[in-house]
Amino acid sequence: MFRNTMIHKRTAEEIEEYRLSSLLVGETLSEVGKHIKPGVKTSMLDRVAEEYIRDNGAIPAFKGYNGFPASLCISINEVVVHGIPGNREIREGDIVSIDCGTELNGWIGDSAYTFALIGVTQEAEDLIRVTKESLILGIDKCRLGNRIGDLSFQVQSYCEQHGYGVVRELCGHGVGRKMHENPEVPNYGRSGTGIKFLEGMIIAIEPMITLKDKAVVFENDGWTCRTRDFSYSAHFEHDVAITKSGPIILSSFEKIENTIKQNNNLVLV
Ligand code: MG
Ligand code: MG
Repeated sequence: MFRNTMIHKRTAEEIEEYRLSSLLVGETLSEVGKHIKPGVKTSMLDRVAEEYIRDNGAIPAFKGYNGFPASLCISINEVVVHGIPGNREIREGDIVSIDCGTELNGWIGDSAYTFALIGVTQEAEDLIRVTKESLILGIDKCRLGNRIGDLSFQVQSYCEQHGYGVVRELCGHGVGRKMHENPEVPNYGRSGTGIKFLEGMIIAIEPMITLKDKAVVFENDGWTCRTRDFSYSAHFEHDVAITKSGPIILSSFEKIENTIKQNNNLVLV
């Protein structure tokens, strides 16, 4: 996936600069969350995001990335990731993964959150909860002395214990000056394998978890990735710095979740 094998190690100052971009992603998703309701088109949410990002002196990092046409990836229900905003309307009971990237002062923040609409089924709610929990459990493995495989195994085993599928075709990644840097961060693997965590690494960890079968297909638009069996999929993503004192989550869901509490069309899982 990545030709350059170099892994960047950032200084504490660089990590703090990076954090500003990462936090802007959460603020953008929070702003987008205010507009989610049944009947709204995903293209409208994309406009909200782009305007908010530009108003805050940043650039939507997804727009134009390998030709992607929008500022957000909006992936509803059976869509795992990379859904292109358009005319699809959000409906009651949907689960909506929104992935966003910002470039602020040359740093690329990249974070995603799965929103649940009112009327969401219990099984979809459970999938969202477990996916988010797997992210947090995985982050806890990001410690000096551990390897990427320790994180991968944690995410995979926790999700599979619940009977869910772990998507193999896509994975997390190093992040920083570019959206996708080394190393790859798979959501499946064996403990004790892969590269060691290095002080100053920043990685985007993003479990993509399916309710049933893990198999996915890519639609003819070249982007949309959905479950082959059309079952639900959830996706959460945090940017995490590896430090001597442990992992630091640089992105934040706090503002997103405050918005969810205030939006009667959404359910906080
Ligand atoms: Mg992302
Ligand atoms: Mg990512």
